[in-house]
Amino acid sequence: MSLHPVGLFPAYRPRRLRQSPALRRMVSETRLSAAQLVLPLFARSGRRVRRPIAAMPGVFQLSPDELLREATLAHKAGVPAVLLFGIPDRKDTRASGAYAANGIVQQAVRLLKKELPDLLVITDVCLCEYMSHGHCGIVHTEHGRAQILNDATLKLLARTAGSHAEAGADIVAPSDMMDGRVRAIREELDRLGHTDTPILSYAAKFASAFYGPFREAAESTPKFGDRRSYQMDAANASEALREVAMDIQEGADMVMVKPALAYLDILHRVKTEFGYPTAAYAVSAEYSMVKAAAANGWIDERAVTLESLLAMCRAGADILITYAAVDVAKWLKE
Ligand SMILES: [Zn+2]
Repeated sequence: MSLHPVGLFPAYRPRRLRQSPALRRMVSETRLSAAQLVLPLFARSGRRVRRPIAAMPGVFQLSPDELLREATLAHKAGVPAVLLFGIPDRKDTRASGAYAANGIVQQAVRLLKKELPDLLVITDVCLCEYMSHGHCGIVHTEHGRAQILNDATLKLLARTAGSHAEAGADIVAPSDMMDGRVRAIREELDRLGHTDTPILSYAAKFASAFYGPFREAAESTPKFGDRRSYQMDAANASEALREVAMDIQEGADMVMVKPALAYLDILHRVKTEFGYPTAAYAVSAEYSMVKAAAANGWIDERAVTLESLLAMCRAGADILITYAAVDVAKWLKE
């Protein structure tokens, strides 16, 4: 706590600066802007496919043509970036759909970059959606005990990021939480000549119950066990700083904290400690809870959404990844 001198009542009256909207805006310390927004989108094969995700009203799995339509609307509304996830037709134990040259994400990236060259296309780099077992790495089972292999997984992650960059992705965003993956990805991108492709690492990603609705969206629920051997324990803040430090040393250009609202202390410490461009991912349940309560008439959807995002910014977020991005961009224009 700093010890700046503070005026004392009655000479100092904080309410003086709260008297009108214009005055309040003038002294506002934090401002939301559409320039900060990223809209996550889910790509799957087919044509004219819009498969609704029951627990996330307004969110769909989209075939490339529909995804382009959705991205176009978002871009027109002022959302500068999308984050792509893929749902492949087939899954296996090597996640081959993740790094296939003609994989669903690679197709979607090429289409978006061709039709909307100014839209920033960020790709989620992970293996879980493409693995038959739903884990983010290669699984090795011995004596009935399954392990997620770290080092063997790095090669596949690097290959996936490389194929996204080859397809034209502007930014790659590894979300797997394997140790050393940012370095492996940076080396592969550089080897392929993509020295200018930035990495946005999901640096502090917690094993969170707030991901529940997403698993339906990405069809990535693990078939056995959970992700606690690689995603972080919700109890740990110092460890989150070490994770971020590691990713920065390995070449991350931007770092992310996920989830957002229940982890504002982490966001604040990450931004204060490192000063790097910092993203907050307002995850599926953060979105679904607001939608559900609003549908019941219990809360004001717009006010709660904007206040939540403002809180993330105040805590230190520069970039806001939210399923509500299009609505937010429209609201900010009004
Ligand atoms: Zn994953």
